[in-house]
Amino acid sequence: MQSIAKVLSGDSLGQPVGVHGWIYRTRSSGGIVFVVVRDSTGIIQTTMRKGVVSDAEFELASSAGIESAVEVEGTLAEDKRAPGGLEIRASKFSLVAPSEPFPITEYQSTELLLDQRHLWIRSREQTAVTRIKAAMLRGGREWFQENDYVEVTPPMITGVAPEDSTTLFQIKYFDRIAYLSQSAQFYLESLIYSCERVWALTPSFRAEKSRTPRHLAEYWHLEMEAAWIDNDGNMKVQEELVTAMIGRAAVDCPAELKLLGRDAADLGRIAPPFDRMSYEEAMASLQKSGFDTSWGSDLGAVEERALTKERDTPLFVVNYPKELKPFYMKENPDDHRTYKNSDLLAPEGYGEIIGGSERETDNSLLVDRLREIGESLDNYQWYLDLRKYGSVPHSGFGLGLERMVTWVCKLEHIRDATPFPRTVARVYP
Ligand code: ATP
Ligand code: MG
Repeated sequence: MQSIAKVLSGDSLGQPVGVHGWIYRTRSSGGIVFVVVRDSTGIIQTTMRKGVVSDAEFELASSAGIESAVEVEGTLAEDKRAPGGLEIRASKFSLVAPSEPFPITEYQSTELLLDQRHLWIRSREQTAVTRIKAAMLRGGREWFQENDYVEVTPPMITGVAPEDSTTLFQIKYFDRIAYLSQSAQFYLESLIYSCERVWALTPSFRAEKSRTPRHLAEYWHLEMEAAWIDNDGNMKVQEELVTAMIGRAAVDCPAELKLLGRDAADLGRIAPPFDRMSYEEAMASLQKSGFDTSWGSDLGAVEERALTKERDTPLFVVNYPKELKPFYMKENPDDHRTYKNSDLLAPEGYGEIIGGSERETDNSLLVDRLREIGESLDNYQWYLDLRKYGSVPHSGFGLGLERMVTWVCKLEHIRDATPFPRTVARVYP
């Protein structure tokens, strides 16, 4: 048996080939049954003619339902009307396993598709998203490898809240309380003192109660932390990494991208440096477009959309007011109201995909800020230790994988960027 993509390459034209997969659709006409077979690499038309295959095989092919598992052997021939311009003229058809009537037909509500997610992920669109995401991760891994970063494995059960404590998932941990990780940042920060440049891909958990098209309760977080780099260096890593990730997808998945309406060549044109705009400039630009925003207003989905909808490359917004960001960021020496931080916004209105900053290295400043926000220092003692034993300038960021996939795959909702989305309304299937 060969993969359908391999057969569709046409190398075996006129020769015997065999494929196995699942029935995508069937159609009968006179003494012929057309069975389109799907595997992980594509779809191909196979034709069963009465008299060429046995009567029993012909009967099986005519009656087998969508998603039945099948094997087909025959000769590869040209056929202009078939998808891919080739078909297999079958000499042998076997039913590996029949399918009950498939619950998903052409037009279905979003809710039904979510209830049937374990089956819906077989769709060509979902398969394309899955493959593109894998290519992006491959590109990211390659970039980290080439740039001497060490992949590390932080814990997912933790006692600290690096981000907003209102979105913590609390769990019963033996006879105490613990939390599911919102970010691995503090653990990565600990690891730079031995490895200097580290990265990790882990799930992050956030109890996001508002239903938005860009928040999941569980998402895959690609985080990096590096010693001896400031926030400018940090942004360079981000633009190179993002370019490597989409570059790999553009090269490896042009057909999958096309299926989703994205031209791989457009992605291939994205290259560093990305544009930069200060938070202050972003505010001015929003006010010009009629937004009622002023210094201290956060940038939400609507504002980020306005800033990026006409763009076709990503945009850094830098130096946010301190009150909008977490305590661990480094103050901007050129403007004490702000931090040395950046959010990277995807183009075409998709909005934030990365949050990053240079980290505060001064223990006493961190202690002051934790006191200001009313946090108990006890929980952060180990984190504060990192500033006592050879504190060095360092920076890092977190990239939301599904956010980036939503942009690259032109999806309307982040739930379609992951096979089994976890949201406030859903943990099934
Ligand atoms: P937002 O303001 O959009 O909620 P955030 O400021 O909370 O994002 P960070 O804490 O900086 O985000 O997290 C780093 C990255 O993780 C974000 O840039 C985004 O790509 C991603 N991210 C954050 N929260 C979620 C979520 N609930 N679902 C999916 N991705 C998320
Ligand atoms: Mg958030």
